Amino acid sequence: MIGDQAGTSGGIHGGWTGTVLRVNLSRATIKKESLRQDWAREYVGGRGLGARYLWEESDPNVDPLSPKNKLLFVTGPLTGTNASCGARYMVVTKGALTGAITTSNSGGHWGPELKCAGYDMIIVEGRAPRPTYLWIHNDEVELRDATHLWGKGVWDTEEMIRSESGVPDTIVASIGPAGENLVRFASIMNDLHRAAGRSGVGAVMGSKMLKAIAVRGTGGVKLADARGFMAASWAMKAKLKESAVTAEGLPTYGTEVLVNVINEHGAMPTRNHTETIFEKAEDISGETLTETRLVANKACFACTIACGRVTKLPGEASSKFMVNTNPRNWKIAGEGPEYENAWAMGADCGIGDLDALIKTGWLCNDYGMDPITYGATLAAAMEMYEKEIITNSITGMPLRFGSADALVAMAEKVAFRDGFGDLLAEGSKRLTARFGHPEFFMGVRGQEFPAYDSRAIQGMGLGYATSNRGACHLKSYTVSPEILGIPTKMDPHVTEGKAEITKIFQDITSAVDATGLCLFLTFGVGLEEMLPQLVAATGVSYTMDSLTQAGERIWNLERLWNERAGLGKGSDTLPKRMLEQPIPSGPAKGMVNRLGEMLPEYYRLRGWTADGKVTAAKRKELGLV
Ligand code: SF4
Repeated sequence: MIGDQAGTSGGIHGGWTGTVLRVNLSRATIKKESLRQDWAREYVGGRGLGARYLWEESDPNVDPLSPKNKLLFVTGPLTGTNASCGARYMVVTKGALTGAITTSNSGGHWGPELKCAGYDMIIVEGRAPRPTYLWIHNDEVELRDATHLWGKGVWDTEEMIRSESGVPDTIVASIGPAGENLVRFASIMNDLHRAAGRSGVGAVMGSKMLKAIAVRGTGGVKLADARGFMAASWAMKAKLKESAVTAEGLPTYGTEVLVNVINEHGAMPTRNHTETIFEKAEDISGETLTETRLVANKACFACTIACGRVTKLPGEASSKFMVNTNPRNWKIAGEGPEYENAWAMGADCGIGDLDALIKTGWLCNDYGMDPITYGATLAAAMEMYEKEIITNSITGMPLRFGSADALVAMAEKVAFRDGFGDLLAEGSKRLTARFGHPEFFMGVRGQEFPAYDSRAIQGMGLGYATSNRGACHLKSYTVSPEILGIPTKMDPHVTEGKAEITKIFQDITSAVDATGLCLFLTFGVGLEEMLPQLVAATGVSYTMDSLTQAGERIWNLERLWNERAGLGKGSDTLPKRMLEQPIPSGPAKGMVNRLGEMLPEYYRLRGWTADGKVTAAKRKELGLV
């Protein structure tokens, strides 16, 4: 039950609620605390505010699966407002997959529900003695027994909590069997199919014996200047309607619109990055998905883009009763795949069977695990199998590139750590090292690459190598200028200008991630269109300069945290395959990533030392501790 109720709202005029929930599972205590307003102004919210609290409270050298690691669920000041895409929350912790600071972002309705219940953030500490879930209904907050939910999938868990609570609009964030079994790439799921997906945040939640956080909030989000906010909000929505990507491409085809685009540029990693053109791309493309499997598109809270895909599998009952949130549809309808998932489980494993990708995507969502790392880890295992480093006696079944049977079967084995699935559950860095072939791990800081080959898109290589959470497309998406020409076109094959654009994208992305808005907005609008909503919501006079500097502050703080965790010097690199093995065919034939041409310039632009350390002068400039 709640103790230590503190007065919280003095000095806050809107955006933030001013209240943090601190939950200690070891001691079974729950406290309300005032939000540190100075940190909120400097780090805004979401990713930034979470990193600031983690910096203050958690030793970067703790075992991520120990009770000493903290798990933070953090909204932004625009989460739960009607700013388009004000749907996001961040899970901030030390990643079970990477050992680095991680900030995993999810949409749907959970973040807005938490804000409407009256909280900016939940800090989870310790470990419960038995399976537990956290129940939040406005001021009513308590820990409840989850023994009967342990072992259940995400979809059953959501349904059972809603049913037993008697509060039908409850929104649940939970883990599935993968999180319980400490699969190192387990995710935290909400709204059945929305994921804080990467770096193993679900394993951290599982290590705390915390099955779920169920929230019902019936308040709203206060705005400092409601009239100004509405005007700014409508102005941004109008801009989104003018963009070909946010008004047409994403709503019509979802993120899967990228399959053919990236493949045509010869940048689609295929068969564990041994090639970069997938011959079956058309079969798994957004166009094919839309024509043959799409039921409807779907939006997160307040979103006017609606990139989500509600899909069906073919069969007699597939078009009947198509309300995908109802359990009766769970075998034939669900959501996804997104582009990254379709790539990892498709091209990277050489699999062109769209139904297998859809089915396995749903399994990953129900088991609560990241389909990107799952697909990429299976791809690394498939390469080892093809090269006869591992055989049937180890894997239990043939793991040939292209095997849809293996893709579906292994998903279950991973979630329950059954047989060879127990080794896959450790992720591809640990898997390949175990068999003496670390060269088949395709990633950075223990996290597998997403769906863009950095030999064909040079800037993405620099972004991956310097990404604080390990290889990630969502921290510096230079695919926008290098491939899509947004905001202006850059040649993906050259290194000139990539250090500068990478730094700019990293800082701006950090700022967007702090607001509570969805990064996909940046396909249609810039930070300057988001800014007036932030100012009107919070009453804080942020400017483009101060908001961009907040992004830079967040990036540097994450970097410092990783330095403390021993992940500084020397970890900004790419696998040898990216640096030394030329692309065999296609538009980028003969290319390797020329990281060495970009990294020194990047360090210089960041104001760091020549070997990438954050300097005392930079810390002072950004007001960092
Ligand atoms: S653009 Fe897509 S992911 Fe972003 S808030 Fe909208 S529906 Fe959710």
